[in-house]
Amino acid sequence: MSKTYIESPNTLPIYDECDILVVGGGAAGHSAAVAAARANPEASVILMERYGYFGGDVTGAYVLFIPTLNWRTHSLIRGNLEEWFTRLDKNAPDSYIAPPLKYVGRDNPYICKKYEIYEACVNDREEPHTPLRTIYFEPNQLKLEMDAMVQECKNLKCVLHGWGTKPITEDGRITGVIFESKAGRQVIKAKIVIDATGDGDIYSQCASFHGASSGHIDYDHRDGQMALVWRAGGVNYEAFARIRLDEPKVFRRYIEDLWEFAGYKTMFFPSGVDGIVWFNNWLLHKDCINLDDLRETEFLVRNSIRRILAYCKDTLPQCFKDAYLYDIAPQVGVRLSRRLDGVKYMTPLDSACNTAFDDVIAWTSGFGAPVEIPYSCLIPKDLDNLICPGRHLSADPVAIGGLQLIPQCVQTGQAAGVAAAVAVADGATAKTVDIKKVQKILCEEQDVPLPRQANTNKELVEELEAINYGRDFEFNKTIRQKAGLDW
Ligand SMILES: Cc1cc2nc3c(=O)[nH]c(=O)nc-3n(C[C@H](O)[C@H](O)[C@H](O)COP(=O)(O)OP(=O)(O)OC[C@H]3O[C@@H](n4cnc5c(N)ncnc54)[C@H](O)[C@@H]3O)c2cc1C
Repeated sequence: MSKTYIESPNTLPIYDECDILVVGGGAAGHSAAVAAARANPEASVILMERYGYFGGDVTGAYVLFIPTLNWRTHSLIRGNLEEWFTRLDKNAPDSYIAPPLKYVGRDNPYICKKYEIYEACVNDREEPHTPLRTIYFEPNQLKLEMDAMVQECKNLKCVLHGWGTKPITEDGRITGVIFESKAGRQVIKAKIVIDATGDGDIYSQCASFHGASSGHIDYDHRDGQMALVWRAGGVNYEAFARIRLDEPKVFRRYIEDLWEFAGYKTMFFPSGVDGIVWFNNWLLHKDCINLDDLRETEFLVRNSIRRILAYCKDTLPQCFKDAYLYDIAPQVGVRLSRRLDGVKYMTPLDSACNTAFDDVIAWTSGFGAPVEIPYSCLIPKDLDNLICPGRHLSADPVAIGGLQLIPQCVQTGQAAGVAAAVAVADGATAKTVDIKKVQKILCEEQDVPLPRQANTNKELVEELEAINYGRDFEFNKTIRQKAGLDW
């Protein structure tokens, strides 16, 4: 048995009390706090973040790519996520690259030609090729917009450099959180807590969960893949992209060699700013709950940066001759760790059957046809007044791969915030909240398209009905057959 130390009981100061406490200010938590404050201006909201800025993986781990916010010609994922780019359009229009909304899904060869060098900005799987609402962006400009969004909400207070460490529970409900900072341990009491730490830091101590530190990590999927992203400047990305498009075999060979020289799987992508690329990486069998894995990730990638740049300069001088190390992401990137064991546990069958949920709170672009995400996969089975949006929501190791991207984290965060706001206004709990009210506010006040609502886009529904909601697509059939469910 490992050695232990018994901590003596403490009396802790109460730092503050509020209606809604959001722990973690990444894509999900930031979205939740803003949505809650806007949906109920009478409610007091606190957003606590362990670092000094918002965005988590997005702005801190430099995940600078957001895939497909449209379905065909329809802008499907909107709300707080499109707001990031509406704001950047106004304040820093050169800080992101994406086909404009008005062109997505249309048969427009000129726009396709313009964007084809940016991976996944054009749907080249079907004829005719069409532009997709896929976005590459500059993270520091986005940090400024995320700051502005929270500061505009008068009923929202931010606690930066505060690390939520322990839930306080009474009679099957969460009632607050203990947090650490330079000022020591303190308490924030709250009616509703939103755990948006991405790693279930709060729920893992009071509710059941899967994944990291539950004793089972599924290394075959995204569970055990960490990263430390870095950026290179002085790169001619277009020259590289032309090789990818014009000489796919050469491109493939180049990437395989790059992996060999790096010692791990890595690849670079545009960053939203001309001349700068980000090096994404996939370090297998790494768990962010394990301190040794965290240290190894930091050292492994930093030790390889000069080697990778030298390889790129030698082999692709037309792209990399002037390249230099631009910067290294301030935080490691964690794809997945813990996953909630929620009231609803999402599986790949939910996409394959395109399950319709009464408590749908997000309609997201999936492989082929939009997929519904229910509120109940944000709710722990065994505890009330805790909502858990973001990459640690309740889903199996396969399903989570399509539910933990930036769009779904912002979407589930926004819904969690509105649900908390409605619960506080009505004196309900996270479990008894009137979900119809939540859906109405999301759709009618917060620009979130949902199915089966008064303002649901009829054309979109007709197109979905015409393809049986994608249920007959080959990959969906295969999933159903494997589960013995085909009909
Ligand atoms: C390398 C990498 C590549 C990826 N590629 C893509 C991609 O190409 N496209 C895409 O859409 N998605 C991609 N993803 C997934 C996506 O970026 C994340 O799943 C998503 O951004 C997670 O958002 P989140 O808010 O749930 O979690 P996080 O971004 O992890 O946010 C959690 C926030 O909570 C804070 N926090 C954590 N613990 C505490 C605590 N105890 N107290 C206080 N604050 C705390 C953190 O500092 C952070 O700000 C990638 C992820 C990684 C790591």
